[in-house]
Amino acid sequence: MGRKRGNAAALRKVAESVDITEIIQRYTKGKIIGRTFTCPFHDDAHPSAHIRVGNRWCCYVCNEGGDTIDFVSKLFGLSIMDAARRINDDFELNIPLRTLSDDEKQKIDEDLLKKQEAKRNKDAACMELVLRHRAMVYAIRHFAPKSIDDMDHLDPRYVDAVKNIDRVAWLLNHPAS
Ligand SMILES: [Zn+2]
Repeated sequence: MGRKRGNAAALRKVAESVDITEIIQRYTKGKIIGRTFTCPFHDDAHPSAHIRVGNRWCCYVCNEGGDTIDFVSKLFGLSIMDAARRINDDFELNIPLRTLSDDEKQKIDEDLLKKQEAKRNKDAACMELVLRHRAMVYAIRHFAPKSIDDMDHLDPRYVDAVKNIDRVAWLLNHPAS
């Protein structure tokens, strides 16, 4: 069952290139509720399988689990290689699935690192906006003028929030892809 060494980098790239939730949505009819989903490998009335960190899944009822390739392999009874090919084709990843040269493996690793880095930066930027928006909502609630007299010396935190909250909310709803 071991993955052929020459293909390990390509398989890893396939396994990590598509989000496990997309795989579940595309290939099963089950529900996804938060981090749980209907397990396709046992008669599952309530979603009891779990999405795990590292783009993996597991089900404690039927003891199945693994990465996205394992999921497709078990679901369709495919070999690991054929499951990877299926994901590669269905999601148009165009990852060369043959024994790779060292240069190709290195490039795949670099691409993967870049992708992970970009995702981290995006997450961080989004988190920053969320916190900024929260602070503005707070400022509008707590530093707003309470009387006519206050109007002459508005709290700068309130002024900043009123001026910028629409733009920050817009950015939150239109994340750069
Ligand atoms: Zn199960």
